[in-house]
Amino acid sequence: AMKNGQLKPAYNLQYGVEVSFIVWAGVYQNTTDTRTLIPFLEDFQEYIGTRSRNIIADAGYESEENYLYLRDKGQASYIKPNNYEISKKRKWKNDIGRRENMVYLAGEDVYLCAEGKCLSAVGTRRTKSAGGYISEKTLYACAACRGCERKGQCIHGNHSKIQLEERVKRLEVSKVFQREREENLARIRSTEGILLRMNRSIQVEGAFAQIKENFGFRRFLTRGQESVLGEAILLALAHNVLRLYEKIQRDTVGRHLIALKEAG
Ligand code: SF4
Repeated sequence: AMKNGQLKPAYNLQYGVEVSFIVWAGVYQNTTDTRTLIPFLEDFQEYIGTRSRNIIADAGYESEENYLYLRDKGQASYIKPNNYEISKKRKWKNDIGRRENMVYLAGEDVYLCAEGKCLSAVGTRRTKSAGGYISEKTLYACAACRGCERKGQCIHGNHSKIQLEERVKRLEVSKVFQREREENLARIRSTEGILLRMNRSIQVEGAFAQIKENFGFRRFLTRGQESVLGEAILLALAHNVLRLYEKIQRDTVGRHLIALKEAG
């Protein structure tokens, strides 16, 4: 399980946690969580010589590149999708302009809108992420939007120079990303996924709470990536010793996961 520490400034601290012990740390300069996942796991593999079977992470780590990387390495992703929370909101569910609220017919590769019209594939476009990853998007357009009374609800973006009457509904979708996200989502919603995500929450949030609240550590004392990493490792060791002590006291040394019912 991964999480960033927000012990800023300027550095993005990442901890990897297993059975409530911090097993790996990485310090990155000015980058988003999405882009730390691959270098973090590569370093882990190089030094430890093994790969974790399951990678559990929060929404900030989701990207097509990360999904494909994990698939390629034979690691199962349990990443919370970026739209996970917002997609439960009523406003989101009622938004007929969202692709997720349309029906996709895989056989014909078309989306059906709220008015039952088809959005069919009209082309592709390649986009490049900040990290250089190239993704292919399929472009869909509706040929029957003329005169539709729900256009105002369906077509967003008030900055278009074209008048609404003239506009048609378009979508841009990476099929690879959607496939990966769906498979990932199915894992998250499985019993094992629920168990792993709950444990992620307890273990990783617990590690950062320990460091920030119990140790009172809010800011790195040194500068420079190397020495910040040194501090992060010392904190991790202190955390691990305390966790081990707790586990011995509670006689739970051999136990790796907390069962769902115990968390109540
Ligand atoms: S604007 Fe076009 S895509 Fe949107 S509901 Fe109307 S016909 Fe369907």
